[in-house]
Amino acid sequence: MDAASVPREDLAVLLKWYVDHGLDETIGEDAVDRFALPPPPAAAPPQNATAPTPIRPPAPPPAARAPVPLESPQLVEDARKLAQRCTTIAELEEAVRAFEGCALKRTAKNTVFADGVPGAPVMVVGEAPGADEDRLGKPFVGVSGQLMDRMFDAIGMSRGRDLYITNILFWRPPGNRTPTLAEQAICLAFTRRHIELAKPKLLVLAGGTAAKAVLDTTEGIMRLRGKWTTLRLDDGTEVPTLPTFHPAYLLRTPASKRQSWLDLLAIDEKLRELGAKASS
Ligand code: URA
Repeated sequence: MDAASVPREDLAVLLKWYVDHGLDETIGEDAVDRFALPPPPAAAPPQNATAPTPIRPPAPPPAARAPVPLESPQLVEDARKLAQRCTTIAELEEAVRAFEGCALKRTAKNTVFADGVPGAPVMVVGEAPGADEDRLGKPFVGVSGQLMDRMFDAIGMSRGRDLYITNILFWRPPGNRTPTLAEQAICLAFTRRHIELAKPKLLVLAGGTAAKAVLDTTEGIMRLRGKWTTLRLDDGTEVPTLPTFHPAYLLRTPASKRQSWLDLLAIDEKLRELGAKASS
C-alpha cells in the first residue's frame, strides 16, 4: 500500500506516534531498510555441487571511512581564535551565528545563543537546545526551562532581571542525542569566551554534560553537584561555579528536587556573600 492510498487521519495518527517517540527529524528522503540483506554476489559457477549453500552471502568489505573534517582539532582552534577576537557579547553572538564549523548547525532550525540579561549576576549553562528551543531560538523555553524558571523564582530571581542563560551547544543535536565530544569542544570554545564577556558573579552548570564539558572533568554529576568549584578562564578570571542537576532530570526524578533546593539556597547565600543580592 502506498502513502497516497492511506486515509489522511491514519497518516496523522502515525505522524503523531513518531513525534511522541522522539522521531521529529527527517534526515533523508527515502527510508533505509537496515535489516535488508546485502545484494548477493554475482553467481559464480559451482566448484563443488555438494558444497553447502551459505545461509547469508558474505558481507561486502566495509567502505573506508571518509575523514570527517568536522571532528578536526583545527575547527576547535578556529572557533577559539574567532571567539578570542570578540570583545562584546554582541560580537560573539554574530560570530557564532556566522560559524559553519559545527555539523549540528546543518540539521538545526535556529541558532540558540542566549536569553536573560547579559551581565546578570548568575549565568546558567545547560547542555543543548531541545525541540522547543530550536523552534523558538531561545534556551530553556520548554518544560525543563519552565521548571528552571520556577526554581529560581523560589529564591526571588528571574531571567528577566537576574539570570543570563545559555548552553554549551548553540544548535540542537538531531533527535536530542548526546552531543559528540567534537561538537562539544567546538562550541565550548565560544562558550568559554561567552562566560568571560558576560562576567557573571557566579556560574551554574545545569546537568552532567555541561558540568563535565565546562570543568573538563570525567566526574559525573552525582559527585559534582552541590560542590562549589572555581572556573579559571583563559583571561585569568575566576568564577565561583556550582554544578547542579539538570531540570529535565528533576522532571524524571522528582525526589532529587530536595538536593536542588539545597543548591538554590547555596546560590542565594553565595550571592549575598558576594554582595550581589541584598540581605533580607
Ligand atoms: N535543556 C538544555 O540543556 N538546554 C536547553 O536550552 C533546553 C533544555
